[in-house]
Amino acid sequence: MKAVVFEQFNTFPTLKEVPEPTPGSGEVLLKVAGAGCCHSDVSVFQDYTPETGSHTKPPFILGHETTGWVEEVGPDVTGFKKGDAYIVYGPTGCGHCPHCVAGQENYCSSAATNKSLALGLGRDGGMAEYMTVPARNLVPLGDADPIGAAPLADAALTPYHAIRAAMPHLNGGGKYALVIGLGGLGQIAIQILHALTGATVIATDTKPEALAKAEAKGAIPVVSDEHQVENIRKITHGEGVDAAFDFVGVAPTIAAAQASGGPGSRVTVVGIAGGKAEYDWYSKPWEQELLGVYWGSIPELYDVANMYRHGQIETEIETYSLDNALDAYHKLVDNKLSARAVIVP
Ligand code: NAD
Ligand code: ZN
Repeated sequence: MKAVVFEQFNTFPTLKEVPEPTPGSGEVLLKVAGAGCCHSDVSVFQDYTPETGSHTKPPFILGHETTGWVEEVGPDVTGFKKGDAYIVYGPTGCGHCPHCVAGQENYCSSAATNKSLALGLGRDGGMAEYMTVPARNLVPLGDADPIGAAPLADAALTPYHAIRAAMPHLNGGGKYALVIGLGGLGQIAIQILHALTGATVIATDTKPEALAKAEAKGAIPVVSDEHQVENIRKITHGEGVDAAFDFVGVAPTIAAAQASGGPGSRVTVVGIAGGKAEYDWYSKPWEQELLGVYWGSIPELYDVANMYRHGQIETEIETYSLDNALDAYHKLVDNKLSARAVIVP
């Protein structure tokens, strides 16, 4: 079968013929419906080194936002029907530590010694015609469109977790939320904020078309430039926002998120761009919290799949065949995609 393979650190992926996998013990073979291209893949193949990428060691098939239909089950697996649609929960934890049994395989206690980080990150993912998945990583999609659902596995799950964790900052009292970086994750974050809170959402990006899309979703657009903090503070009548979500993660966006916050606000950095924050302990905004998050839990993926079925989250996608999958990654690297790219084998 054809697959998009990450073969070497600091090297663009390749499209190549690989053997079709067979499901082992505890696994299900999925016929892939769709696999989303996430910006994190760019860090994996472009930036990581054998030291920083020890859990995403090549070679493996990319694709950590995958949906598909059951094709075959492993020898000891029961309860699945051929043709049923599932979304894949990416993280591959040990399965038995306190985090894993709570469904948070993303925070597995044995992460340092596990063989892979996730399906599509250190172990074969969904950019191929078939993939094998541990049965416990499959969340049912019911009759939802599986191709449109593919980005939910990360582009919705990660913001959903970040927003849920910030709920105490966003409940009641005319709150303001700031979303920085309006790509795959940011556009879905706006929808989740509207579905879960009554907060006014302010959205920043450098790209006019990304700002226009955010405005169409009911967010107040602010151009990401040297006046953005002043403009954001004006919108909030000088108070500052109650929660900021940075989906870029460079030092200037983190600094902008901090400076846009009000007293007791929370800044969640989601973007993986190596940005470091400066934190002055004795200065405004008082009692501001700053935290980083990584992906989400299986129970949260169930919620996200339900929100998609109920129409609370809509994904915007551009589909590519496996033959054109590398074009999608080139566009992602050049910031030229106008929607989440989903590879449809
Ligand atoms: P994307 O490429 O789809 O979108 C990025 C957006 O940010 C684009 O619209 C771009 O114009 C905008 N942008 C770039 N620089 C900016 C700046 N200085 N100011 C404002 N906007 C700017 O990316 P994505 O797939 O949505 O991923 C977003 C980030 O989240 C990436 O860094 C990715 O690696 C990271 N990520 C983190 C996790 C996690 O668990 N922490 C999970 C998934 C993705
Ligand atoms: Zn574990």
